[in-house]
Amino acid sequence: MTKILLAEDNAVNRELLRELLEARGFEVDEACDGQEALDMIAQTQPDILLLDIGMPVLDGFAVVQKIRGNPRYATLPVLAVTAYAMQGDREKILNAGFNGYLSKPINTRSLTEELERLLGKREDGSASPNKAHDIHPVSKARTVATGK
Ligand code: MN
Repeated sequence: MTKILLAEDNAVNRELLRELLEARGFEVDEACDGQEALDMIAQTQPDILLLDIGMPVLDGFAVVQKIRGNPRYATLPVLAVTAYAMQGDREKILNAGFNGYLSKPINTRSLTEELERLLGKREDGSASPNKAHDIHPVSKARTVATGK
C-alpha cells in the first residue's frame, strides 16, 4: 500500500484530507507540525509527503529545505498544501523544492491528479514494485487533463 505522510496543523483539514486519501486506498500517517513531519519521515518512510505551508515549529518551507538537504530524502515527492493561492507564492513554492502545489480548499480532482503525477514519476527512483495498482498510469491520466 502506498504510504502518505500528511503534515497539517489544522485538525479539521487534516481529518478531511485523511478521509480523501484513505478513500483512494492510501495508508495515511499524520504530523501536526513541521518538526513532527521531519521525525515522522524517518520513522514511517512515506512514499509521498503532503505538506502544509503554514505550520508551527517549522513551516513547510523549512521542512522541504531540510528534506532536500538530506541525500536520503532528496527524491521524496513533496506536495505543498496551502492557502497561499497567489501566483507569486506558487512560483516561490515550486522554486523552494516542492514537487507540486495544491491550494485550499482542496479540489479533489487536483489532489488525485497530483498524486498520480508524482507517484508515477517516482518509479525510476525509489519506487517499490507493488505501488502502481493504487493509481492509473500518469500518461493516460494526463492526456485528458485540461488544467485550470
Ligand atoms: Mn496550517
